[in-house]
Amino acid sequence: MSKKIAILPGDGIGPEIVAEAVKVLNCLQSEFGFEVELNEALVGGAGYDAAGDPLPEATLQLCRDSDAVLLGAVGGPQYEALPREKRPEKGLLGLRSNLELFSNLRPAILYPQLADASTLKPEVVSGLDLMIVRELTGGIYFGQPRGIRTLENGEQQGYNTLVYAEHEIERIAHSAFKIAMKRDKRVCSVDKANVLEVSELWREVMERVAKEYPEVELSHMYVDNASMQLVKEPKQFDVMVTKNMFGDILSDTAAMLTGSIGMLPSASLNAEGFGMYEPIHGSAPDIAGQGVANPLATILSVAMMLRYTLDEVALADRIEVAVGEVLDQGLRTLDIASEGCQQVNCAEMGDAVVAALSVKA
Ligand code: NAD
Repeated sequence: MSKKIAILPGDGIGPEIVAEAVKVLNCLQSEFGFEVELNEALVGGAGYDAAGDPLPEATLQLCRDSDAVLLGAVGGPQYEALPREKRPEKGLLGLRSNLELFSNLRPAILYPQLADASTLKPEVVSGLDLMIVRELTGGIYFGQPRGIRTLENGEQQGYNTLVYAEHEIERIAHSAFKIAMKRDKRVCSVDKANVLEVSELWREVMERVAKEYPEVELSHMYVDNASMQLVKEPKQFDVMVTKNMFGDILSDTAAMLTGSIGMLPSASLNAEGFGMYEPIHGSAPDIAGQGVANPLATILSVAMMLRYTLDEVALADRIEVAVGEVLDQGLRTLDIASEGCQQVNCAEMGDAVVAALSVKA
């Protein structure tokens, strides 16, 4: 049966990079018999420009009616003065909350061909392949009460609440263990159980859920140590699972280990495995419209979509192998350019991936 994918290019370089990912999806259709129906909709600044809303109702409905969502990026300096509820980011947050995308998968993969792009020594990062599973819709970013209040002495006080209910920990634990089952079967749960009661409960629930996955090895690490270990010996990790705020910070550290923001995909999943897939980078207004953006993070987001939502693991593997091949051929967009390699633009990189895929058809 044909799979329905909502295509949300968004702003800045979004339309350029998504166009290359669409070429890949069309190639899967024409050469590998993967039946797919692609429907495009507006989000972010593009939604605001066309409909006065960063998340038009028609876009949300299209996503609800689809099997998966592919998003480019949202945002741009021209929208920064808008009221908060009209800003492009509101479109992204609206999608996450309306679609209940609580599990954010952020892989940090360093292709050996790009080991020089990292600021760390090649032997520390070359071949790195770790997955950070971040809880995305709970924790201190959403906990109530929150605000800034005036104390009796007239001083102002800011406050937020870190809160997790058991069911929220359980579902992110299941998400992490299921992903580990498709990888090296090791989960490291990152918390601050020596200080926070929420983390004590987090640990307890992780241990409980782990019993349902006897093949997976569970370990625990305090977040301060985890941040050190990520930089010292990142290849020790397979899957890391953590709360919203810790994951926000650790996943950016992990991304920078690879040194190439244009290469990293991500996924946000709900309890049924429905997901929104997008590159981790933003709309890159500084290079938008120039055709020089790296489309590989978006193309690799399609691979993640095939692996984690559409259950087409063999096709996901093919895309990842094709990306490795274009890197082997020495093709590089501006952001990953290095001496002795051939610089290509966004469309040429997309075409090269399609060509590498087609050879295998
Ligand atoms: P950014 O990720 O857009 O850009 C950071 C730097 O990386 C820039 O120099 C950019 O040119 C480069 N870069 C990013 N993606 C690239 C690619 N595919 N190929 C080559 N180079 C690439 O981050 P920023 O500059 O902090 O933010 C720009 C806008 O994007 C802001 O409006 C921000 O709010 C938004 N943003 C959106 C998302 C999202 O849609 N998920 C995420 C982060 C930032």
